[in-house]
Amino acid sequence: MEIPWDSDRCGLCVLEGDLTLEHVIPEALGGILVGRFLCRCCNSTLGAQIEASARFDPSIRLAAEGLLDQIPSLANRILQGQEYVAEAEAGQVRARRLEGRFAIQGSAQPDGSVVVPSEEAEGALRRMLSREGACEGEIVVALARFSETRVDEPVDLGRGVQAIPRRADDFQPRLATDLMDDRLALAVAYEFLALLTGEQIFDECLDPIRAALRSTEGQSDAFRVVRGRSNRGGVEPLHIISIRQALPSVIVDVRLFRWIWYEVHLPVVAFGYNRLAYVHNLATDEERVVDLDEAAP
Ligand SMILES: [Zn+2]
Repeated sequence: MEIPWDSDRCGLCVLEGDLTLEHVIPEALGGILVGRFLCRCCNSTLGAQIEASARFDPSIRLAAEGLLDQIPSLANRILQGQEYVAEAEAGQVRARRLEGRFAIQGSAQPDGSVVVPSEEAEGALRRMLSREGACEGEIVVALARFSETRVDEPVDLGRGVQAIPRRADDFQPRLATDLMDDRLALAVAYEFLALLTGEQIFDECLDPIRAALRSTEGQSDAFRVVRGRSNRGGVEPLHIISIRQALPSVIVDVRLFRWIWYEVHLPVVAFGYNRLAYVHNLATDEERVVDLDEAAP
C-alpha cells in the first residue's frame, strides 16, 4: 500500500529533492506500507544506521523462529546467517542458519580439542595425521577406522590423534545480542504520522525528532519510546501501527509480529483525524487501514 505524499520536500531533512520510496516498517521485517517521501540520502542513512540491525534483535529472532511455519520465506530471510549454539557432549557447538538449515562452525574447545563439522572431519583428521608424520597408507587405514566408529565412541587413530564422532542438534538462537535501536520505532511512528498529516509534519515542534533520526547517536532526550513484549498471546504474522491523540502528545503504537510493542510519544501537530490502525497480515500480504472510531459501536 502506497500512501501519497504531495510535497516536493523530503519528510526528514525538509529539503527539496528527488524523493524515493520508503518502507515505513523496514522491508527486512516484511514491511510493505510505503510512501515516496524521503530523499535518497535520508532513505539510505536511515536504512544503514537504524534499520540494518533490526533482524539481530533477540525479540525479532524469537518472533521469526516462532513464525517459521507460517511465514517461512520472511522468517528464513530474517534468520539467515544468524548464530546459534547447542550444548553438546563435545562442548558448546556454534552454528549458523544457512538456507534454512544449520551449518556447524568449527571451533576450539577449552580442553584443547576442536569441533569440526562432519563433512570436514576427514580432511581435518588427514591434515592432523599427516602433520604428525603419518604416511598415506596409515592415513587411509585410520580414516576407515574413524568412519566405522559409533557416535560418542572415542577412537585412537595413532600418532596421538583421537577423534570422537558427535551429534549436535537442538540449536538455540544466541540471544546475547543488542536490542534494536529505539529509533526504529521512532522512525516508524514519525513516518506514519508524516504520511497521515502531509506537510503539517514540517511543524517546528518535530524538529528535535528529525534531528534525532538523522543523528549518528542512538540516544536522545527528544523522544520517548516505551518497549515491551506482549504477555497476552504469542507471535502472530501481523505488523500493526495505530495512532491516537493523548494530549499533549500523540501516541503511535507499533507492534511487530503483534508481540513486540513500542509506544512512541510525539508532540502533537495540528491535525484532526480519527484513531487509525494499519494492519499488515504477513501470511496473506493483506493490508488494511481501520478507523477505530468508526469501528467502535
Ligand atoms: Zn532528506
